[in-house]
Amino acid sequence: MDEKLLMHRLNISRRDWQDWRWQLQNRVTTLPGLAQYLKLPAAAPRDLRPVLRAYPLAVTPYYLSLIDPDVEADPLARQCLPDVREAAFSNAGSADPLDEDGRMPVSNLIHRYPDRVLAMVTRNCAVYCRHCNRKRLWKTRETAGFRNRLAAMVRYVTTAPQVREVILSGGDPLMYDDSRLEALLAAFKAVPHVEVLRIGSRMPVVLPMRITKDLCRMLRRYRPLWLNTQFNHPAEITKDTARACAMLLEAGIPVSNQSVLLQGVNDSPEVMRRLLHGLQKISVRPYYLFHCEPVRGCMHLRTSVSAGLALMEALRRDCSGLALPQYVADLPGEAGKVPLLCLSETLKNDLRKHQDFFDNFE
Ligand code: SF4
Repeated sequence: MDEKLLMHRLNISRRDWQDWRWQLQNRVTTLPGLAQYLKLPAAAPRDLRPVLRAYPLAVTPYYLSLIDPDVEADPLARQCLPDVREAAFSNAGSADPLDEDGRMPVSNLIHRYPDRVLAMVTRNCAVYCRHCNRKRLWKTRETAGFRNRLAAMVRYVTTAPQVREVILSGGDPLMYDDSRLEALLAAFKAVPHVEVLRIGSRMPVVLPMRITKDLCRMLRRYRPLWLNTQFNHPAEITKDTARACAMLLEAGIPVSNQSVLLQGVNDSPEVMRRLLHGLQKISVRPYYLFHCEPVRGCMHLRTSVSAGLALMEALRRDCSGLALPQYVADLPGEAGKVPLLCLSETLKNDLRKHQDFFDNFE
């Protein structure tokens, strides 16, 4: 959808459009709201009601503007618009396949690996991604206020000297304004044994206007600070996202990308190649490609592992190491992120041809 046309139709200025608060206040959360942007099938209200009861809708006008209304099954629409299949297989998969809820020593703090913890600092997101592995939380409410939640998490980290890295996640931590976000960063940074902070945020992709000069000025005070984001399709790389990532990089915050392999979104070598090359061009390091977890409400977006392996093999020949992510499955418990690797016959033949490179080939 043409951005200028959309601004004209909404009767707003470019200044409003570029204001992250305007984008958040004007998120689309209902089907009638969505119909202002896209033509919905006549049966949509009836068919999608059960989906929305279980999994709400939220999309920024910016992200909606990237959807091509003339493309059936647009890959960005697939990531943000409700689909009847989310509710159709309501018993398939697990609401919490990684048993995150069972690994919380205190509320909202996941401790799966000895040296790092993940703090779920909010349950809100600018866009509710239909493939989210935490969609079980979208409709739940916090039981304590911000300060109490933070104090409990920091208390735990203080008593766990093996924790050297704290990952702020959610939800999306950049849903907070700068002062609250700074309160979070400052509290964890003040723990003497915490060496590194990390933020997991999809804002550079779904609401790049959130990356402001003020935000970057604040973030740079908390380095070493890393930001992991999630681009899943080359159409998500725009001048706005490129600018947002450049601002973070200029502030000394390395930006890495963790994609999720999604059927009909990025499961073709051609699309994935364009995504990886596009990320390399904006200096964002492709880091992981996650095999989509068996999350309830996401099963229709999963591919097979063999399809993922075939994709990786096709990419290996076309992409430099810098642009190639590691294909992994996140498994419950200590197993954690396991690389998915398989040597095809072609690769085995390549290795055999060069046996002299190895002491002990077989
Ligand atoms: S931004 Fe992240 S946490 Fe939020 S819905 Fe998307 S994938 Fe889930």
